[in-house]
Amino acid sequence: MITAQHIYDYLACPHRVYLNAHEDPAKKRPLSQFLDLLFSRGTLYEKRIIESLDCRSPEGLTKQDRSKSTLDLMRSGEAFIYQGVLIAGDEQGIPDLLKKISTPSKLGKHAYIPIDIKSGKGYESNSDNAVNKTYAIQLAFYARLLQAVQGVYPQQAIVINVDGEEISFDPNDFKEKLEEILPHIRALVTGQERDCPALIQKCTLCGWYDLCLERLKASSDVTLVAGLGRGSKQALNGAGIQKVEDVTALDGRQVNIKGVKEKRARTWSRQAQVYLSEDIEILSRTPIPTAPTRIYFDFEDDPLQDLIYLYGFLIVRPDGSSEYTDIWCDNHEGEPQAFLQFLELCRSLAKQDYRVYHYSKHEKTVIDRLAKKYAAAHVRPLKKFQSKMVDLQKQVTSHVVLPVLSYGLKPVSKFVGFQYSDADPGGSQSIAWFEEYQKDPGRNGELKQRILTYNREDCEATKVVHDWLTNTCHRKK
Ligand code: SF4
Repeated sequence: MITAQHIYDYLACPHRVYLNAHEDPAKKRPLSQFLDLLFSRGTLYEKRIIESLDCRSPEGLTKQDRSKSTLDLMRSGEAFIYQGVLIAGDEQGIPDLLKKISTPSKLGKHAYIPIDIKSGKGYESNSDNAVNKTYAIQLAFYARLLQAVQGVYPQQAIVINVDGEEISFDPNDFKEKLEEILPHIRALVTGQERDCPALIQKCTLCGWYDLCLERLKASSDVTLVAGLGRGSKQALNGAGIQKVEDVTALDGRQVNIKGVKEKRARTWSRQAQVYLSEDIEILSRTPIPTAPTRIYFDFEDDPLQDLIYLYGFLIVRPDGSSEYTDIWCDNHEGEPQAFLQFLELCRSLAKQDYRVYHYSKHEKTVIDRLAKKYAAAHVRPLKKFQSKMVDLQKQVTSHVVLPVLSYGLKPVSKFVGFQYSDADPGGSQSIAWFEEYQKDPGRNGELKQRILTYNREDCEATKVVHDWLTNTCHRKK
């Protein structure tokens, strides 16, 4: 049976659909604490929404029985049906809700539209009005099944997001994409097609990561070249470039591959050469902005709650002494106070000559957002702090090429010799600890300590990368 989960997996990575269907499940890592959290949070939220509605659920032990029961409920005109089972041919969908509307159909004077309840924002990232494409395609799948069951294609589908907002859209807009991917999903599930792994950002949270990485390394796959994703892999493979070794040859060659610009090809080629040689290449010796006082800055935020719960600073004074300091809040009620403390810190620095180093653009984006939220964009010490921020990730990628699989803080700091106390540190792990901590802050002080240690180590790692980069690029050749 093809389900909405297949669509979700396919849109994340087609290879995942193949492995889920054909690989030994014992080779899959268990669900991470973070994904587990996402799942239970989603279930809890769904329950809350459902409790506020007058819904009926289908009965029966098997999916077939429940699909018959769903059809009975639809025929009798229930206003809302919770987890109705829709089956047509080899496709099966269980939308969170079916909502009755007054459109004539095979059922009588009414029909149904599909609704999914999501514990996230429900929009495409960086957009406040475009519905999340993955959710929309899943709902278009339910719309397709509804058409088979009630004879009418719904002209509306809804995502209820974490704020209780109803994001309404026309599933027709996603029909074409759905119809394009369904035959591939079916072929992957039946084994008629087999997809190969490709190293992408989503891999680190995927249960098949260890297995895929092992296979990618064994085949010297082109996606081991940092920055070369699945789309580019397809373009390169189509041109006969299969291995990292082949990517090195793109240097200086007239690149005639559709969708691949020459400048990009040269960047990949350089990255591939460095990856294979395990050496580094220096691209620039331009000085990195510095100041007598250096601040290494890192946020911990929980995107599931849209909450910044920790600002961490490692402050290195002109005499070389250093100190880690933090600003913490337990929940949304504490966020304004935490921001005030942050403004206080900016004021205490106002007369100093300092620079703030952070890794990735996230910190800058969040400060801009907080300044807007708390109408503080005009506060001069804050403006000064913002003007002193240096994105070290940008400095790394413009100064050196490293034999790493990605230019995230963890792999880069590990390459330059930094060691985290946790064997597998990650921001999503910290979010899982934070959510556990929130259940009982009085008793969970140990978890808070773990998060602080994790954040302090991120600040230290940023400093180690900065020091290494400065020494490497500015030592005498
Ligand atoms: S680890 Fe990456 S390539 Fe492998 S199945 Fe997961 S997402 Fe796909």
